[in-house]
Amino acid sequence: MKIVSYIGLGSNLGDSRQILTEAIQKLATLGAVSTSKLYQSPPMGPQDQPHYFNAVARLETDLAALTLLDQLQQFEQDAGRVRLRRWGERTLDLDLLLYGDEQIQHERLTVPHVGILERDFVVIPLLDLDPNLHIQGHRLDRLDLLQHTTLTEVADQHWANI
Ligand code: ATP
Ligand code: MG
Ligand code: MG
Repeated sequence: MKIVSYIGLGSNLGDSRQILTEAIQKLATLGAVSTSKLYQSPPMGPQDQPHYFNAVARLETDLAALTLLDQLQQFEQDAGRVRLRRWGERTLDLDLLLYGDEQIQHERLTVPHVGILERDFVVIPLLDLDPNLHIQGHRLDRLDLLQHTTLTEVADQHWANI
């Protein structure tokens, strides 16, 4: 059965725009993909690191949630991700934000992703893909964080040629 999932993408090392484009192409091997606009945002956590490029992908897939996580982690490895420090710089971060309307509490996977409602670099691209999204009873378009966003739009939703 096809599930609609949303995946958050981030990169602030290497040729981030190219890395995110390749990540979208890999996601497209797992099912039908559409993309949000492409954004830049200041880093979360340590401030002595470059700005991030961020986007969200909508993926319709047959994969079970943990199998999807395995794929996302494989794609991070393919992009040369190395863990240096918590919330530190990385070539590619792929977070499973939503998996249908399932709630998952597993040692490797929490869905909805923690912090989803506090991160403008996730909420704003999610709204590009579905302006009516609700998470845990919250309408995303009504969240206070939308009033003081730090996000800059750098390209429209065709940035990955999808
Ligand atoms: P954050 O999760 O706060 O955005 P991060 O993305 O930098 O931080 P990672 O180093 O990418 O964190 O992931 C750490 C662990 O989080 C992974 O080993 C993974 O098993 C776990 N994890 C739990 N829930 C999720 C999820 N929804 N999507 C991706 N990874 C998750
Ligand atoms: Mg993350
Ligand atoms: Mg992550």
